[in-house]
Order: sequence, then C-alpha cells, then structure tokens
Amino acid sequence: MKCPQCRQVALPYSQFVFSISHGVGFERALKGYLRCSRCKELLKLEGLGTRFWVCLAAGIVLFILEIGFAYRISRSIGPTASLLLLIATLFTAILSSSYFGWKDATTRKVQTRRTA
Ligand SMILES: [Zn+2]
Repeated sequence: MKCPQCRQVALPYSQFVFSISHGVGFERALKGYLRCSRCKELLKLEGLGTRFWVCLAAGIVLFILEIGFAYRISRSIGPTASLLLLIATLFTAILSSSYFGWKDATTRKVQTRRTA
C-alpha cells in the first residue's frame, strides 16, 4: 500500500491489521479512509487486489471442507489435532489475505479543504 502523495508505505502492516482507526477514527476507517503515517495525507482505499480475494476464498473453501469432513479428519488424526488444523487454517487465511490486502491495496488522495 503506497501513499500516492509521498510514495512511501502509507501504513505499516501491523497498523493496517490491528489498528481500528487508521488515523482517521473508527467510523471513517470502516468507510475505507486512512491517513498516511508519513505525510499525514488523507487517503481512501480503492481496492485490495486479487491476491486478497484469492486467499480469502481459498481459506473459506478449506475451512468449509474441514468442517464438512470434521468427523473423518477427527477419526484419523484425533479431535485435538483436527481442531488445531481448523484454527491453523483460519489463521493462515486471515494472515495471508490481510498481508496481500495490505501489500496490494490501492489508495487515492481525498480532496480536502486546507486550512493553513
Ligand atoms: Zn504519504
């Protein structure tokens, strides 16, 4: 995710994933707004890229398959291991999709009235 203003990474990954305000407050962050952590430019998310959706879809499909075959998986590797497998799948899907979403996200500058 590059800032179109300063050409630097607008938000560090940790802040993109774990911060709920993105420097603009929770409500505006939900609408896709964020503030560049370097130049403080107000930006709007345009898209998260294909890899985000592919990882998310793959994660959901795998998760559903594991739920569907839970009994068989549990019988062959045990209930604890199958639960761990489910959790690992969920984590991998969340981490990979959020990473690619962060990496590939495109942003545009938001026109703001300057008071300076
Ligand atoms: Zn910037």
